[in-house]
Amino acid sequence: MGTEEGRKADSAKSFYPSDEDIERWMSSAFDMAKDALENGEVPVGCLMVYDDRVVGKGRNEVNETKNATRHAEMVALDQLRDWCRRGNLDVSSVCERTALYVTVEPCIMCAAALRLLNIPVVVYGCRNERFGGCGSVLDVSSADLPQTGTTFKCVSGHRAEEAVEMLKTFYKQENPNAPKPKTRKD
Ligand SMILES: [Zn+2]
Repeated sequence: MGTEEGRKADSAKSFYPSDEDIERWMSSAFDMAKDALENGEVPVGCLMVYDDRVVGKGRNEVNETKNATRHAEMVALDQLRDWCRRGNLDVSSVCERTALYVTVEPCIMCAAALRLLNIPVVVYGCRNERFGGCGSVLDVSSADLPQTGTTFKCVSGHRAEEAVEMLKTFYKQENPNAPKPKTRKD
């Protein structure tokens, strides 16, 4: 296709995830989520893929860094920015053609960050019932927010049960920092 429209359609296709892409990249994201779980972190892992290359990856690092904002997506976005800097590439042109693969629905904070960087597609495993920003608590992904970047598409449900199981395992583990749960008397 030689037209402007045609080129746009081609470029959209080139980053829009196929089933094979989802299978392949989500498998690495799950490996990172497992690593997070083994290290006492909320089990979330993610990859940012541009032009069939991983340009950023991360898993939750909140406990390790003692910084509540170090979610997997934030770690990966920083790596993407470093990758652009090293290659002398424009961050926004790269982000416009980058897909995020993440084991759990991005939270409200991360969904807003993804909008601000104009990431067009997010593939995720299970819903994030506590903090989800792609429909579970708020729908930052598709909300009409003209001052806050652009909306993004979500492809959800890949290995969702497994992602939920990992979250359950994490929240069941003893957390020495957590307040003692109150026993309910009926
Ligand atoms: Zn987050």
